[in-house]
Amino acid sequence: MNSNSIENPTAPLYPLRVAAELTGTSVYALRQYVDLGLIIPYKTPANRRLYSKVDIQRILCIRKYLDEYGLNIAGIKALFAAVPCWLIKPCTESDCEQCDAYTSLTQPCWQVSVKGPTCQNIDCRICEVYRLPEECNDLKSIFKKLEKEKTLTNKIFKR
Ligand code: SF4
Ligand code: SF4
Repeated sequence: MNSNSIENPTAPLYPLRVAAELTGTSVYALRQYVDLGLIIPYKTPANRRLYSKVDIQRILCIRKYLDEYGLNIAGIKALFAAVPCWLIKPCTESDCEQCDAYTSLTQPCWQVSVKGPTCQNIDCRICEVYRLPEECNDLKSIFKKLEKEKTLTNKIFKR
């Protein structure tokens, strides 16, 4: 599949104003989400930001947490920081030890400055961890999904 095709959910397609319209969010709020690292749209060589379908889902998810669950931005960031990326990626104990995401309570994994070898030189925009809010999953749903796929049991068993 062409990486920029319309079917590819991670393809950078929508400019800022279109993303704002699609999500019922102000341009100012979208810029704020980007600055705070809640979303990571694609940056063109001309420094223009383009949003993918995954970004749109993530923004809708953020709106849901804000409007329906009454969380604030700091709470949402902490929620994203709590996602156990090391259980989803092929990340070893030694990888975890070298990575700030393993201990950070405030930064989502794609935001930390020191990452373990598993995640170095990887485009976070296409990673399954960044893509989790495609279904706007809460932490319990994430664990249930991992349990179903036996990823969780295998990982814990191996350690
Ligand atoms: S290397 Fe770090 S960011 Fe990557 S999966 Fe492991 S703990 Fe998470
Ligand atoms: S590739 Fe990026 S989003 Fe995926 S687990 Fe690693 S740091 Fe997180």
